[in-house]
Amino acid sequence: MSDDTESYGFDTLQIHAGARPDPATGARQTPIYQSTAYVFRDADHAAALFNLQEVGFIYSRLTNPTVAVLQERIATLEGGVGAVCCSSGHAAQIMALFPLMQPGCNVIASTRLYGGTVTQFSQTIKRFGWEAKFVDFDDLDAVKAAVDDNTRAIFGEAIANPGGYIMDVRAIADIADAAQVPLIIDNTSATPYLCRPIEHGATLVVHSTTKYLTGNGTVTGGCVVDSGTFDWAASGKFPSLSEPEPAYHGLKFAETFGPLAFTFHGIAVGLRDLGMTMNPQGAHYTLMGIETLSLRMERHIENAVKVAEWLEKDDRIDAVTYAGLKSSPYFERGKSVCPRGAGALFTVAVKGGYEACVKLVDSLEIFSHVANLGDTRSLIIHSASTTHRQLTAEQQEAAGAAPNVVRLSIGIEDADDLIRDLDQALSKATS
Ligand SMILES: *Cc1c(COP(=O)(O)O)cnc(C)c1O
Repeated sequence: MSDDTESYGFDTLQIHAGARPDPATGARQTPIYQSTAYVFRDADHAAALFNLQEVGFIYSRLTNPTVAVLQERIATLEGGVGAVCCSSGHAAQIMALFPLMQPGCNVIASTRLYGGTVTQFSQTIKRFGWEAKFVDFDDLDAVKAAVDDNTRAIFGEAIANPGGYIMDVRAIADIADAAQVPLIIDNTSATPYLCRPIEHGATLVVHSTTKYLTGNGTVTGGCVVDSGTFDWAASGKFPSLSEPEPAYHGLKFAETFGPLAFTFHGIAVGLRDLGMTMNPQGAHYTLMGIETLSLRMERHIENAVKVAEWLEKDDRIDAVTYAGLKSSPYFERGKSVCPRGAGALFTVAVKGGYEACVKLVDSLEIFSHVANLGDTRSLIIHSASTTHRQLTAEQQEAAGAAPNVVRLSIGIEDADDLIRDLDQALSKATS
């Protein structure tokens, strides 16, 4: 396959992008380069690598050939110029913010985010002197009003986990552009098969590769993709990228690496010093998963629509928040943001509240009660007693994780079996 990725379709790229037959052995599948270090050709080669004058492999905290293939694969699928993989989705979020933020700076974040991200942003990042301002992203005036001189990024999820919310990525990107700050999109729930945020104006895309990209619940991982379109030097707000870097003899990333500045900084400073590295075994599992991403997503969506439509008509259910349902306030927006479907993750409000939800999760036979999503298996969780437990009642409500709500991640089993399982468990839960 040639390197001209423009001309290939998604199904071809999910299998081939970034990979070549192994130059040493001809191995067709990407080998797992289980090596910590790489031999330098000579002392000059070593010096050039350490000075970032030549690209190559030094030490696997920074770069590894197996991980590099995955980085190129995800960057290509997202339409970015480069990507940095790391140890988890949460690591990716820190890796994305780290070059942008300084003590006293803030990120504007959607109120509709994965519960773990709400906790990371509202509690943990404070210890770095960073602040998150949570705003309803459907209120564009409120988003604009929240931006101040210390804002360094805007952060949201294309399809929000778990509330069935779809973000108007283009409208928020316009606000970010006007403020001269990057828009970061967590594209975990959508995947690049359903939504390519860069095409809607996003600067950076973050992933928990733990979920649909790997797809079978085997490894945790994360990724930060750069669009390569942001001018880091224009506003003076991003000195880590535009000003001399003391640890590299005063090298300026934006000037030296142009559109790849963010990616090089992510490896040369982010991974070097934060050390949130993805291991080659993990990258291998994720590469295996990505090969079938489009096929899985098609079935995830087909099943999610069938199950959500069945649940919506059932009188033991109060509400189903799935943007793939015509009744959803986000159905129309979904057609432009994620035209192939609204994902396979939604919440269901069960009559009988907290008690009924707990009985439901305990009565299901095919669905597993786990804190994960995006598996081939169907999964369920009662967010209020688990993933969103640390949140206040208002935060739970805003995130679509009220006490009477369960979150479903619809797998790729037979939809009829999933419906039968829900039917029997709902009978037990609401009797
Ligand atoms: C799971 C998840 C994360 C965190 O990813 P980890 O790999 O668990 O660290 C972030 N955002 C979303 C939308 C997620 O679903």
